[in-house]
Amino acid sequence: MVQHPKSLGRATEVNWLLADGETDERAAKNLQKARQRRETLSRFAREAELAASIVHQLNQPLASILANAQAAKRWLVAESPSLMEAIAAMDRIVRDAHGAGETMKRIRAVFKQERLDKKEANVVAMMRDAVRFVLEDTSRRRVPIEWHCDENLPKVYVDPLAIQEIFINLASNAMEALENAKAPLIVIRAAVTHIDEMLVQVVDNGPGICDPEEIFDAFVTTKKSGLGVGLTVSRSIAEAHGGRLWAENNQAGGATFYLALPLSLGNR
Ligand code: ADP
Repeated sequence: MVQHPKSLGRATEVNWLLADGETDERAAKNLQKARQRRETLSRFAREAELAASIVHQLNQPLASILANAQAAKRWLVAESPSLMEAIAAMDRIVRDAHGAGETMKRIRAVFKQERLDKKEANVVAMMRDAVRFVLEDTSRRRVPIEWHCDENLPKVYVDPLAIQEIFINLASNAMEALENAKAPLIVIRAAVTHIDEMLVQVVDNGPGICDPEEIFDAFVTTKKSGLGVGLTVSRSIAEAHGGRLWAENNQAGGATFYLALPLSLGNR
């Protein structure tokens, strides 16, 4: 039977459709496989990166603890022993052991959401405590801080230790960003900006941020001895409180970190 060119055309079209359907299915499967492979690879890459970060973070204090323990021993068994020098070396051991413990705590926090212990708390008092804690590290550059916080701010219903962790991260990062600034300045603002929300801003006049969203990803750091988890943990704490944490570059230079916290029902 001689086929009409039109029907031949239509038959071919149907075949094409079938073939397309098959190709689509195969393509979708391939895409799925490629996606799974990429996810596995990036998980391996992240795990390898994490392992390298942990090794790096703990190697430094361990090497320093070993060196100071040996030094303390030498000072004690020397012909003319020095108790003062031995005690100074031991103090450095205690400092480094605390530092290593703190690193482990932060790594654990990335993987595990601690239970929140919420209570009514004063945001400004929490920020002042956090800044005081950051300034206890005497190796840090003293940066002037301007406080612009509304008077009579309502209290927020939060886990104070967790929220302080955010402020400690933001203040430490701002101070580190200002290490080489000529006229460094940090401005801290807090105000009720919406009927149900308080907004805290930590503003610095440092170099600003390359990618204000990527810095919240785990293990993203530009610091030699950074772990790159401070902001990841901080954002997850903010979100666990029903809040938000984000960053923007300032027009005049530097960066601003914003923390929005919901007001407790009684304070709206
Ligand atoms: P870490 O401090 O260990 O690097 P973070 O998660 O706290 O980890 O910060 C990630 C990165 O975000 C930093 O390494 C830095 O590059 C960038 N960053 C954070 N805060 C600031 C800031 N105030 N100014 C410029 N860059 C910042």
